[in-house]
Amino acid sequence: MRFSQFFIPTTKETPKDAVLKSHQYLIRGGYIHQVGSGIYNFLPLGKRVLDKISKIIKEEMDRAGAIEIMMGFTTPAELWKQTGRYDKYGKELLRFKDRKDNEFVLGPTCEETVTDIAKNFIKSYKNLPLNLYQIHLKFRDEVRPRFGLMRGREFVMKDAYSFHSSYEDLNKEFENMHQTYQRIFHRLGLDFRVVDADSGAIGGSGSKEFMVLADCGEDTIAICNQCDYASNIEAAKRQKRTTQAIAPKAEFAKFNTPNISSVKDLCEFFKIDAFYILKAVVKKIIFLPESQKESALAFFFLRGDDELEETKALNVLNNFGAGALEIVDATQQDIREAQLFEGFIGPYALKNLTQSDFIFFDEDLREERDLICGANEIDKHFVGVDLSTFDGLKYADLAKIKEGDLCPHCEGVIAYKKGIEVGHIFKLADRYSKDMNAVFLDSNGKSMPFIMGCYGIGVSRLLPAILEQKSDELGCVWSVTTAPFLVDIILSNTKDDRQVDFANLLYEKLQKDSIEVLLDDRNERFGFKMKDFELIGISFGIIVGKELENNQVELVVRDGMQKQVISADIEKITTLIKEKL
Ligand code: ATP
Ligand code: MG
Repeated sequence: MRFSQFFIPTTKETPKDAVLKSHQYLIRGGYIHQVGSGIYNFLPLGKRVLDKISKIIKEEMDRAGAIEIMMGFTTPAELWKQTGRYDKYGKELLRFKDRKDNEFVLGPTCEETVTDIAKNFIKSYKNLPLNLYQIHLKFRDEVRPRFGLMRGREFVMKDAYSFHSSYEDLNKEFENMHQTYQRIFHRLGLDFRVVDADSGAIGGSGSKEFMVLADCGEDTIAICNQCDYASNIEAAKRQKRTTQAIAPKAEFAKFNTPNISSVKDLCEFFKIDAFYILKAVVKKIIFLPESQKESALAFFFLRGDDELEETKALNVLNNFGAGALEIVDATQQDIREAQLFEGFIGPYALKNLTQSDFIFFDEDLREERDLICGANEIDKHFVGVDLSTFDGLKYADLAKIKEGDLCPHCEGVIAYKKGIEVGHIFKLADRYSKDMNAVFLDSNGKSMPFIMGCYGIGVSRLLPAILEQKSDELGCVWSVTTAPFLVDIILSNTKDDRQVDFANLLYEKLQKDSIEVLLDDRNERFGFKMKDFELIGISFGIIVGKELENNQVELVVRDGMQKQVISADIEKITTLIKEKL
């Protein structure tokens, strides 16, 4: 490609809302162009990178045995009503009507559409397993579209859905996709971690996320410093805690604690460590609309120095069949109306007082003694509390893991890191097939709903994810597998016939050898062209300048910007570039 005849609208202007370097460079490098909030055009360079990423994904998905299709972006609402998601999905789902008043949605994900395909065409276990994928647009009306392609409203996703006749088969495909994703992200040159993710009420090891490590990431992940344990903070586990602090051993007794209601004040008052305080976190449950239940209070007990992880709390409620849509903080008034006193809430007689079915204790407190807790009376606490004397307490993993906690798998220590979610694999089981009555005949001739898995990759998000990890202060740095061009021939003086001839010959040779090359033949200053080379981030630059008189050109490696004088020999240059690839 000749730069002068191509379309790369680089600019010095940085849009005001572009806070991330990836966003700035993609705009300034002429890769993308914003059309509306969270909606972008891919200009030629952007399209080239998108295609390269898509090609790698496609090759690996095909190799893994998945089959490419393309589903409609516009989906009849009827399908979404069958699974109940039409009502539940919330405002991210764009719903609209056509001229005949038929309702539609713009697909934020395609479980319903693909399940409908299986329902129509797959009748027998003999046709299973099947993994169908597409690389296509998605629309999610995100509350806060931001960071350019990182969180768009319209974006490109690779979404795959597998169908199975058994859970064993689903587990096999889940592992196959796990491996496939690792190959994909390795080929893209990314430093990433596979983390356990929250799988909602389904639970288990049914969900993994692929996180690109980068400081700007919106997700916090917990990583062990010794083994390969890594988890999204929402799902992270830890070893049972221990402490050096002395336990407040005491006979069970009620104590006057006037105005002592915070964990900190209690610690000072009793001269103890917060480890021994039984803290109550009170939440209000908002139930799913179809349950038609009024809101109710839920109580979560934790150690005084632990925090409640809300995703875990919501899952625990739903595992106990609560049918909760969300949980919010209980207000002072909610607590008063329940005959309780903020800062003095404890487990004694709590169930009788509140009639609540939703009282849970963090796993770390199982059978613990020497605790101090609220007495459900104003200005009173109990000491010498022993949870092993209670019957039928419901324990669950509720606490948010902290830096310094011990890894659940080894003696290592947990630290936080920031990650960008670029992929997510998920065991769906029969969540969709059951509702849509998508069934097949098993080997006994019995009708069974398909067992399903789903596997997503944020294809357009990968552009900024790569840049956040690799770029420098000058501009984009791509992996050689994703750069829009591999070589930029920077022609220093377009009036110098010798330079022009050499640049043209080199250009033709590289093209002939199928090396993607851009010839910067624009009638611009050398410095200007160099700046564009740095900004765009083509893997290698060959500077054809004055030194050509001495039979020399310069090779620049964009990643690190090392320069090297080499002899102006077209064969040798081509070989050198091939070696570097
Ligand atoms: P996030 O937590 O970032 O909102 P998600 O968990 O909702 O993502 P999934 O439903 O798992 O996303 O979608 C699969 C993949 O699509 C994600 O791993 C992510 O890489 C990508 N993705 C999701 N939302 C967006 C978006 N608004 N813009 C760009 N890519 C997105
Ligand atoms: Mg996800």
